[in-house]
Amino acid sequence: MSQPPGRPLRIFGREEAATRKIADAEPNAAQGPDTNPYWLDEEPQEHPNPELGCIRRGICCRSSPGWFAPGEAEAAAEQLGMAPDAFVRKFLVVDQLEVDGVAVQVFAPVKLDRFGARAMPTGRQVDGLYRALRGVCVFFTGDGCRIYAARPYECARYVCTNAPADNPSHEDIARLWVQAAAADDP
Ligand code: SF4
Repeated sequence: MSQPPGRPLRIFGREEAATRKIADAEPNAAQGPDTNPYWLDEEPQEHPNPELGCIRRGICCRSSPGWFAPGEAEAAAEQLGMAPDAFVRKFLVVDQLEVDGVAVQVFAPVKLDRFGARAMPTGRQVDGLYRALRGVCVFFTGDGCRIYAARPYECARYVCTNAPADNPSHEDIARLWVQAAAADDP
C-alpha cells in the first residue's frame, strides 16, 4: 500500500524482534572463517592523509550503515521511486537507543552478510549481535552510495578522521526522532 504524501513514517513497534542464538552466528574455529556469516575479514587500511578527511574509501559503508533522521527515509524512497513503506520493508531495519530513560527507535539501512544476503530480516528491530558486528550497507555498490543524494543524516555528516565529538552521535540522532515525535503529536 502506498504512503499518502506528506505523512511522516512512524515506527510503531518492535515487530517481532528477530532473536537469534549467538552460537548460530559465531564463527566456528573448527570449520574455519568461511562459516562466519558476517563480514569481518578486512581490516580498515590506514588513511593515507588524515588532513583530507573523507576520501570516499567506503570504510564506514562497509562497517556500519548510518542512521536516518526523521523524514529522510521518505526522501530516499522517493529517489528509488518506491513508496516509503515498501522501501522500509525492503531495505531498512529499526535500531534503538535509550534516551532519558525512553527507548527511541530509528531507521537504518540493513547490513549485508559476507555472502551478500541481508544480515537481518528487513522492516524489523535489530538485536544486539547484529548491532555489534560489521557488515556492508545494502546501498553500497563499490562505486559509492546508491542513495547518495538522500543518504542518512549520519552518513552525510560522519568523517572517519574527525574527533568523535565532531561526528554526530547516535544519541544526537535519536534526539531528532524524539523532537519529531513531539512535533508530530503535540
Ligand atoms: S547509506 Fe550510503 S553513505 Fe550510508 S552507509 Fe550506506 S552506502 Fe554508505
